[in-house]
Amino acid sequence: MITKYLKALPQSEIRHPQVMNSKAIQDFDRRHLWHPYTALGNNDPVFIVESAEGCRLKLKNGRELIDGMASWWCAIHGYSNPILERAMKDQIDHTPHVMFGGLTHEPAVRLGRTLIDIMPKSLQAIFYADSGSVAVEVALKMAVQYHQAKGHEKRTKFVTVRGGYHGDTCGAMAISDPENGMHSMFRGMINRHLYAPRPECRFHESWNQSDCHVIENLIATHQQEVAAVIIEPIVQGAGGMWFYHPEYLRHLRQMCNEYGLPLIFDEIATGFGRTGRLFAMEHAAITPDIICLGKALTGGTMSMAAVITTRDIAQTISESPAGVFMHGPTFMGNPLACAVADASINLLLESSWQQQINAIEQIMREGLEPARQSSAVLDVRILGAIGVIETHSPVDQALLCRVFVERGVWIRPFGRLIYIMPPYIIEAEDLYTLCHAMVESVELIRRSNAR
Ligand SMILES: *Cc1c(COP(=O)(O)O)cnc(C)c1O
Repeated sequence: MITKYLKALPQSEIRHPQVMNSKAIQDFDRRHLWHPYTALGNNDPVFIVESAEGCRLKLKNGRELIDGMASWWCAIHGYSNPILERAMKDQIDHTPHVMFGGLTHEPAVRLGRTLIDIMPKSLQAIFYADSGSVAVEVALKMAVQYHQAKGHEKRTKFVTVRGGYHGDTCGAMAISDPENGMHSMFRGMINRHLYAPRPECRFHESWNQSDCHVIENLIATHQQEVAAVIIEPIVQGAGGMWFYHPEYLRHLRQMCNEYGLPLIFDEIATGFGRTGRLFAMEHAAITPDIICLGKALTGGTMSMAAVITTRDIAQTISESPAGVFMHGPTFMGNPLACAVADASINLLLESSWQQQINAIEQIMREGLEPARQSSAVLDVRILGAIGVIETHSPVDQALLCRVFVERGVWIRPFGRLIYIMPPYIIEAEDLYTLCHAMVESVELIRRSNAR
């Protein structure tokens, strides 16, 4: 069948994409392509990546950049890892995609086994989603359907903390920080939930019991309408790169037990080693009832996420009058993504990731320390393979990106945060270069503030 199709098509008509020059790429991009959180056609720089390997992004103009971002938490093994590429190529030879309704395949099962192996024993039922935001929607719907199945139709509100970020779809926006713009912009379109203050006790500080008072009251007062508590464990990512005390999570766990509420952990950013533990929840030694994974799940190669829950929740939903869980993305369980995710997790487990992350943490502690002296800097904080400089006032993102690229590094600050979360394979020398570039940028900010 395939050979018949190929024979019918003369070789000369199998079209290969033409090589475009930089100007053509830039022009089309500017006119037609939207980038994350940007205006279409603005004059902020977009740099053309030709290829990427290890910890280096290679631009079309020949410049090489040391990657400090791991493509937003994802590329934990760096780029062009031969093991991940092999997994994808092998899977393409079988099938890149097939619907998951009524069909299954080995890559989905293999990945499932690997995930069950690394998850706490109580998390047993997996739902594959196609992105982090979708995984969050799925987790919220699971909690609501769980209560519906128990006859609690009114439990549709979520308790969460301020400063969170859970994605850009409507359900996810609604539980993200209510004051960062999205809530006011989409008022009327997204639901209001119950927001406690951001946990104030820092990760490395001593615990203060009062940190939990507001959320405790919130849950107690609204218990009849609450479906679940959802939070990013230990690290609030895009909502402010904030590291808080593990004891906070232990208290949440206790309260959820007391009130019969599922506890949902969004580990989309923190999962797969980033905080120094395989999962951030391990810092608190507790287990949620539903967990969302994404980002580094496929080692930065494909979009995929997973929601994993307990037998109790899965069975309660499945044995309810509705009898089904109401979600099913077109690309659910995509075999290509499953195959590469399984390869990525195994590669991570076989590597010395813990030593690598410890080494990254040590170097960042030393390398970012000088920034503390600057009057432009409010705080410097480091956890695992995440290094953050928080400034007093918002930075000029476009300007700093240009400066960083000139300096040979890829760092993309936002708001008052200049931060890195490099691939775990980064060499010490490259990491020092990233840290120096961050410290220099702070000096630049201080001088321009002084002017
Ligand atoms: C990035 C992120 C999401 C959203 O994931 P997408 O794949 O971008 O939809 C959700 N939660 C957290 C904690 C994230 O960091």
